[in-house]
Amino acid sequence: MANGHHQVVLIGGGAAGITVAAILRRRAPQIEVAIVEPAEQHYYQPAFTLVGAGVYPLAKTHRPQQSLIPPGVTWIRDAARSFEPESNRVTLQSGQTLSYDYLVVCTGVKLDWDKIEGLTETLGRNGVCSNYSPNSVGYTWECVQGLKEGDKIVCTQPPMPFKCPGAPQKIAYLIADQLRSRGILDKSQVDFYTHAPAIFGVPYFARALDKVAAGYGIGVHKQQQLVAVDGASRTATFEFVGEARKGERETVHFDVLHVSPPQSPPEVIRTSPLANAAGWVEVHQNTLQHVRFPNVYSLGDVASTPNSKTAAAVRKQAPVVAGAIISAVAGQLVPGHYDGYASCPLTTSMGKTILAEFVYGGKVTPTLPLTPSKERWINWWIKCTGLPTMYWYYMLKGHVWFPRHNTEYQEEAA
Ligand SMILES: Cc1cc2nc3c(=O)[nH]c(=O)nc-3n(C[C@H](O)[C@H](O)[C@H](O)COP(=O)(O)OP(=O)(O)OC[C@H]3O[C@@H](n4cnc5c(N)ncnc54)[C@H](O)[C@@H]3O)c2cc1C
Repeated sequence: MANGHHQVVLIGGGAAGITVAAILRRRAPQIEVAIVEPAEQHYYQPAFTLVGAGVYPLAKTHRPQQSLIPPGVTWIRDAARSFEPESNRVTLQSGQTLSYDYLVVCTGVKLDWDKIEGLTETLGRNGVCSNYSPNSVGYTWECVQGLKEGDKIVCTQPPMPFKCPGAPQKIAYLIADQLRSRGILDKSQVDFYTHAPAIFGVPYFARALDKVAAGYGIGVHKQQQLVAVDGASRTATFEFVGEARKGERETVHFDVLHVSPPQSPPEVIRTSPLANAAGWVEVHQNTLQHVRFPNVYSLGDVASTPNSKTAAAVRKQAPVVAGAIISAVAGQLVPGHYDGYASCPLTTSMGKTILAEFVYGGKVTPTLPLTPSKERWINWWIKCTGLPTMYWYYMLKGHVWFPRHNTEYQEEAA
């Protein structure tokens, strides 16, 4: 088994891995880079919401990984199995061992379908769908097309943290809007069950989204989490997590159940010396440098940083990691600064979106000079056309100039 040394080893070639590699190639082509990534296909996951609603083809969400590996970067088609950061080594599934000068860990999250009793047996059948996997998102659209008067649609949101804080509710709005345009919304019922105490983590946007949900008559059930699904009888069981009714269970009927699964750090990370107590790669929230191993960085969904796990966050994190490595290789570490930026385009209807942008602490930081709580067609265009184009042709190509988000924005009164 061939072992090898690389100046920079990236673990994971998703949004984060490809972007960091591309920036390194563009800004410091003398630095030698390898990406460890097992998947042959790379998915633009933010478009899954649109696929589930029938407004974007699944075929447009993925490209061969090979076509995205930046020229000059070595692609190792394997997966990390264990980490030895004390000796700068990673062992891969194949048994190969890599050593490195700098390590960047960006494996994304694990989807815990099996934490919900009965789910894996019925996902993709019996009206049980999910936008969270390319394997089940097509069935979401099938279910939406089959909706009829009197149907009950249930959408679920798991405990934090999970990727894309808005995805679980976006599909509820798009379904409700389609029912409305078919003239059957009043005779149907859409319910949204969330583990959280509010509809959205940033109060400014939660106020706007409460109104959107109310406008559709969507029942919002807070502090309840999905624990079991019975596909054959079309029932879903929820457990109350709030103090008042903690531990109580309630079983409801559904015709369509959209599940956003619980999520956790991959086993290989959780059990490694890189992890914090919760299992995420323990990095400083602004520099993205590991708190114990200074030549290790992490970004994207697997990092311990308390931002919303989004590709938008990756867009702002990647230049910080690449810049730190470039300066460290030059013998003078200049740490960058990531302010917690994340963006979540909340598709509130077929044609309108609220573009939620915020930084650490839930501070609202819009990029456009427009009131951010408003539903707008321009944001729908950004979601459906602007962001995918930017992702494939700009971000994954290592371009780093982006319009600045406004950190001085003053929220208008509620
Ligand atoms: C339904 C849905 C809607 C979303 N909507 C939005 C949105 O509107 N806006 C937004 O900004 N973001 C959105 N996101 C979130 C966004 O897709 C993620 O935050 C982003 O992809 C994170 O990038 P990442 O590189 O950390 O992880 P990923 O892109 O998931 O990539 C992780 C990579 O690591 C690889 N990997 C895993 N384990 C190993 C291992 N052991 N060794 C080597 N490689 C490994 C995987 O194969 C994968 O390629 C959405 C996601 C979903 C699912």
